[in-house]
Amino acid sequence: MDCIFCKIAAGEIPSTKVYEDDAVLAFKDLDPQAPVHVLIIPKEHIASAADITPENSAVVAHIFEVAAKLAGELGLENGFRIVNNCGEDGMQSVRHLHFHMLGGKKMGWPPYAGE
Ligand code: 5GP
Ligand code: ZN
Repeated sequence: MDCIFCKIAAGEIPSTKVYEDDAVLAFKDLDPQAPVHVLIIPKEHIASAADITPENSAVVAHIFEVAAKLAGELGLENGFRIVNNCGEDGMQSVRHLHFHMLGGKKMGWPPYAGE
């Protein structure tokens, strides 16, 4: 399958890893939108948040456990934001489920722009 995040998970495309286990990989975003911008992905290919099912949802809980653990290691004790973009309206550009973990500054709100 021609999926860039599957290739990153398989080590076929290099990334700056910050955490890895059997089910999950966290790595620095190529185009950071905050002082800390990490992507946390399941190694299993799940296309988007709209494709989470009772069979594959456990990895999502695990991803949030990893995020909580990483917060201390990444200096985000003061807080952070986790973002998931889903589908066309959600402006998802990579069709492999991923959670943006952003922090290191006070974030703006609301997070959307336009009409
Ligand atoms: P999306 O817009 O789908 O929510 O987010 C995709 C994210 O993946 C973007 O923030 C983009 O910068 C990041 N990205 C795309 N390709 C690569 C890559 O090859 N390596 C890394 N580290 N990040 C990538
Ligand atoms: Zn994939």
